[in-house]
Amino acid sequence: MVGGPLSRQTTFRTRFAPSPTGPLHLGHAYSAIFAHDRVRAAGGEFLLRMEDTDLERCRPEWEAQIVEDLTWLGLTWDGPIRRQSDKLADYMARLEPLRDLLYPCSCTRADIRAALSAPQEGVAFAVYPGTCRGRGMESRQPGDALRLNLAAALDAIGPEVTFTETGPAHAGTHRIDRATALERIGDVVLSRKGEEIVAYFLASAFDDADQGISHVIRGEDLFDFTPVQVILQRLLGLPTLVYHHHALIRDDHGKRLAKRDDARAIAKYRTDGASPQDIRRMVGL
Ligand code: GLU
Repeated sequence: MVGGPLSRQTTFRTRFAPSPTGPLHLGHAYSAIFAHDRVRAAGGEFLLRMEDTDLERCRPEWEAQIVEDLTWLGLTWDGPIRRQSDKLADYMARLEPLRDLLYPCSCTRADIRAALSAPQEGVAFAVYPGTCRGRGMESRQPGDALRLNLAAALDAIGPEVTFTETGPAHAGTHRIDRATALERIGDVVLSRKGEEIVAYFLASAFDDADQGISHVIRGEDLFDFTPVQVILQRLLGLPTLVYHHHALIRDDHGKRLAKRDDARAIAKYRTDGASPQDIRRMVGL
């Protein structure tokens, strides 16, 4: 259901940004209701965005189901739904100013694993060992990924970036210093191998800026991407936002819910006769 038009004056604006690769389950419902209720209670705006850059896995029927489930839950959003699939060429064009900080990379996952001598404990994603870092953009072959030269990027933005987190697990001001960034983030892929599609965390950083988002409210599983997004925001001259990563809804065994957990899909609870209030109770809201 579409609410009122967007106002430019609002200082609290958040969004729910699902990837339509499966049904909405209890974990998504929690995230959407939590963000929606918070922003509405403060008189702010709630936006809906489909993060559908994975063209193979995203389906219009899942999007329709998500919209139906959110509406059934009683959530309203402001303005039209934004779709990342409409913006793919735009995102690539907006990478252009970073050209001097990018390099093409032909490494496969297996190459990267082989180049890393030991598994990296406590690091969210495998930090790239830098095999292709010496390559210039002129050597780009069809099929190459594009990586960010993080050391050069950090030189460009200054010694330290900070962001504010208000979620329970990591509340406070986070400083990302050079040594930690190089050790834990490294040269991330900004455009995937063989595709003119930017990485999800970059598309999402562009969208948050374009949609005038002030607060990102999302699951704790995405906390580790935040420093990368903040570095990219600084590099691209985009505003840095306030982040709130909430706890995840887990199943009885403590495992976080995934889209494949169809048994916990909102649509299933609906056909079994649950009410929106029952869903709120189930997720503790
Ligand atoms: N599309 C992401 C997901 O479904 C959410 C990204 C975000 O909220 O920043 O997990």
